[in-house]
Amino acid sequence: MNLEREARRLDETDPLPTLRDEFLVPPAPGGAHAETAYFAGNSLGLQPRTVAERLREELDDWATLAVEAHTRGRRPWVDYHERLREPTARLVGARPHEVVAMNSLTVNLHLMMASFYRPAGTRTRIVIEDSAFPSDSYAVASQAVHHGLDPARTVVRLTPRPGEDVLRTEDVIAHLERLGDTVALVLLGGVNYLTGQLMGIPAITKAGRAAGAVVGWDLAHAAGNVPLRLHDWDVDFAAWCTYKYLNSGPGAVAACFVHERHVRDASVPKLSGWWGTDPAVRFRMDPDIAPPASADAWQLSNPPIMALAPVLASLEIFDRVGMDALRAKSERLTGYLASRLASIEGLAVITPPDPAARGAQLSLRVDDAGALVRRLAETHGVVADAREPDVVRLAPVPLYCTFHDCHRAAEALHDLLP
Ligand SMILES: *Cc1c(COP(=O)(O)O)cnc(C)c1O
Repeated sequence: MNLEREARRLDETDPLPTLRDEFLVPPAPGGAHAETAYFAGNSLGLQPRTVAERLREELDDWATLAVEAHTRGRRPWVDYHERLREPTARLVGARPHEVVAMNSLTVNLHLMMASFYRPAGTRTRIVIEDSAFPSDSYAVASQAVHHGLDPARTVVRLTPRPGEDVLRTEDVIAHLERLGDTVALVLLGGVNYLTGQLMGIPAITKAGRAAGAVVGWDLAHAAGNVPLRLHDWDVDFAAWCTYKYLNSGPGAVAACFVHERHVRDASVPKLSGWWGTDPAVRFRMDPDIAPPASADAWQLSNPPIMALAPVLASLEIFDRVGMDALRAKSERLTGYLASRLASIEGLAVITPPDPAARGAQLSLRVDDAGALVRRLAETHGVVADAREPDVVRLAPVPLYCTFHDCHRAAEALHDLLP
C-alpha cells in the first residue's frame, strides 16, 4: 500500500487521536511543508495553546491586585505550588506529599545530594553512567569535591560491554553487588538522554538499596515519557525538568520526589529556606524552622508564579490523557518509526529494539550528525537533534507527533542517507 496513505490511516484510526491541535507547531523552515515534523520534543517540548492564557491570568492578577493576589488572586499565589502537587504525583507514581515543583533540575539534584549523599568511612562512591548528561557528571564531581574527596576516585562511571551501545540491567546490578559497601549513592538517568534507553529502574533501585546505597534517579527524559511508580519502586529520591516531554517552556520549573520514609524522618539534613517551613506558621517569621513531613520541606524560596503557570497548563493535559494511554500510543508511534527506519539499509539505531526498554526516542548513529540534522530541517522540514559527532536523536512525542510525521522523517532519511 502507498506508505503515506498508510500513515494517514494510522493517524485516523489510532485509539488515542493526536492532540496536535492543542499545541503550537512551528512553521517548517524553507516553506516546502506547512508545518514542522517536530522530533526535538526531548530537548524542548512544544507550547500548549493554554499556556498563554494561564500566564495572562497571572499577569492580570499582578496588574489589578498586586500584593493582594497572594491571597485574593484567582489562584492565590501563597499556595499556588499546591495546585501542581497531585498532577505531578500522578505523573510519577508518587504520593502527593512526596513531590514538589521547584527550582531547576540541576539545582534539585544538588539539594537532593545535600541530603542524601553523605559519604562516610569507605562508603563514598557515586555510581553514574558514563553517558550521563554532562550537568549530572559535573554535579556529582562537585559534590565529591565539596566533601573533600577526589572525584576521580569517587565517581564510578558505568560503561556498556565492548561493542554494545547501552547498559544491561544485569550488568549494572552486578557492578553494584561488586562495589558493595563502597557505594554511597547511585544516580542514573531513568531514560538515557543519548540512547533513549529506559533503564530497569525497579531492579536497579532494589540492588542499590540492597548494597546499602541511596538510589536517586534523574528523570529528565522519563517524566511525561514513560509510566513511573516511584513510591512502589522504593526510589529514595528523583528529580526532573519539565521543558522536555512535559512541554512547560524553556528553563521551566523542575520537580523532585523524596520517598515517604525520608520525608517522615526529621533527622535527614536539609538546606533550608522559609518556603520549607510549615505554612501554618510561616508568617510568624520565627527564627527556627518547623518543616512539614513532605517534600515541601526541601523548598527554599517563594515560587516563581509566572514560571509555574505553564507547568500547570501542561499538567492539565497529562491529567486528561493519563500516562498509560499516552505510553500505549507512544509505543505504537515509536514502533512505527522503527519499522520504517529498518528498511533503510545500513542505518544503525542504537536505541534498544525492545519497546519495554526505550521511551519515545530513536537514536541513530551516522557519520556527520550536525550536517544531517541541518539538511533534514532545511530540505524536509523535519526537526531532529544532533549530538556531535555521530548521534541523531528523533523523539516521536505521542501528544503532538503523528504517524504522518514519522512517515516524513523516514522518507527524508531515505533521501538524505548515502
Ligand atoms: C536536560 C537534562 C539536564 C538539564 O539540566 P538543567 O538543570 O535543567 O539545565 C540535566 N540532566 C539530564 C539527564 C538532562 O536530560
